[in-house]
Amino acid sequence: MKLAVVGTGYVGLVVGAGFAEYGNDVVCVDKNADKIKNLKRGRLSIYEPGLEELVVRNQAEKRLRFSSSLARAVKDAQVLFIAVGTPQDEDGAADLSHVLDVAKELARAINGYKVIVTKSTVPVGTAVRVRETVGRETQYPFSVVSNPEFLKQGAAIDDFMRPDRVVIGSGDSRATELLRTLYAPFTRTGAPIQIMDCASAELSKYASNAMLATRVSFMNEIANVCELFGADVDKVRMAMAADRRIGPAFLFPGIGYGGSCFPKDVKALMKFSSVSGYECRILEAVETVNECQKNRLVEKMQNYFGSLTGKKIALWGLSFKPRTDDMREAPSVDIVNAILEMGGEILAYDPQAEKSARVIFGERISYAKGSYDAVVGADALAIVTEWNEFREPDFSRMRALMKVPVIFDGRNLFDVSQMRLEGFTYYSIGR
Ligand code: NAD
Repeated sequence: MKLAVVGTGYVGLVVGAGFAEYGNDVVCVDKNADKIKNLKRGRLSIYEPGLEELVVRNQAEKRLRFSSSLARAVKDAQVLFIAVGTPQDEDGAADLSHVLDVAKELARAINGYKVIVTKSTVPVGTAVRVRETVGRETQYPFSVVSNPEFLKQGAAIDDFMRPDRVVIGSGDSRATELLRTLYAPFTRTGAPIQIMDCASAELSKYASNAMLATRVSFMNEIANVCELFGADVDKVRMAMAADRRIGPAFLFPGIGYGGSCFPKDVKALMKFSSVSGYECRILEAVETVNECQKNRLVEKMQNYFGSLTGKKIALWGLSFKPRTDDMREAPSVDIVNAILEMGGEILAYDPQAEKSARVIFGERISYAKGSYDAVVGADALAIVTEWNEFREPDFSRMRALMKVPVIFDGRNLFDVSQMRLEGFTYYSIGR
């Protein structure tokens, strides 16, 4: 099939390359001309495992092209995907301006029947707005489909190529059948293609992210209760996970959720519900718990040190989660700012996010070349992101390098009793 994907960010690029991998002819469009110029040379501005190889291979085989001209890309394509950002407004709502701008541009460029698919995460009612926007600008026939994307950064290619489900919101059988055909190779393992109305499809995405955010905040709350009573959240978690009604996924406590999706999607869901007359009380609590949890690690440091003035803190991890360079809404931002405000100094190491971190912190913190470099002369180590390479360090080497062997672990990477044997003062979450 001939496809155009507008927006070449974490979602658009994976979607475009993923469709090309199954033999489709894909043009990816972005208004950022530099991004397109680099992509044409096989250079990506984001880090996502496996993506560069996928892009380069499909480009070499001429199934994947890049363009900054939306009009030209649209002419030949049957299906047009909108995968641009829907960032948070000042009042918490999803900013739809990019989506609607693209809808208008698409409408002006179409030259026959097209299926316009919203991949971006958009509030309920957006399909109607896209339909109206396009309808005002063109006489050609078109269908609007809502096809939310559930991939997660760090495992985006696998999630897209082998989804748990494909959700298609459509009120039009011609468009539905096209999308069903397009997704057939992705669902050979039996994952369902769920056809529903656009409103339900749009809400499915927000409900899923809100549920995951709720699990995170719920477990963080349980972890905090564990600390009050000397209980071990790992034991509690395992007992909960063995209950098939609960299951083991997403039960890990930590320092709060971040990233470009959970925070903004929880807020947007609350906002569009409240505008229509319903206050999401559970989600209010989910957010409150998350905000408090982001302070948890620094509170532990304060309790230990009294004052952080002049303390050298080594930081492992900056990205909002492992296997990405993305720092949008990363808990590390709150943690770094709090330590700096209290007069501490930071030497940070992240396997991929240094470039993104420099945009946020500039030279206010220092950057180490490796995890051991970061701990040299440190008064304490704070673990913020659970990159695999942090999981089995050489503890005796660390002890020798650090000024004081103290670890504040926001991701519960190590065994509490082993840390005692290794000679560390060790603080983690809920244990
Ligand atoms: P992103 O910020 O990484 O990428 C968006 C891209 O769209 C940018 O390259 C930008 O230049 C481009 N763009 C903006 N306006 C444009 C226009 N008018 N014409 C052409 N290009 C334009 O965003 P993302 O993380 O890929 O997210 C995109 C959407 O997908 C959001 O709605 C997000 O909520 C949703 N989503 C994201 C993820 C994720 O893990 N990042 C997962 C599922 C869904």
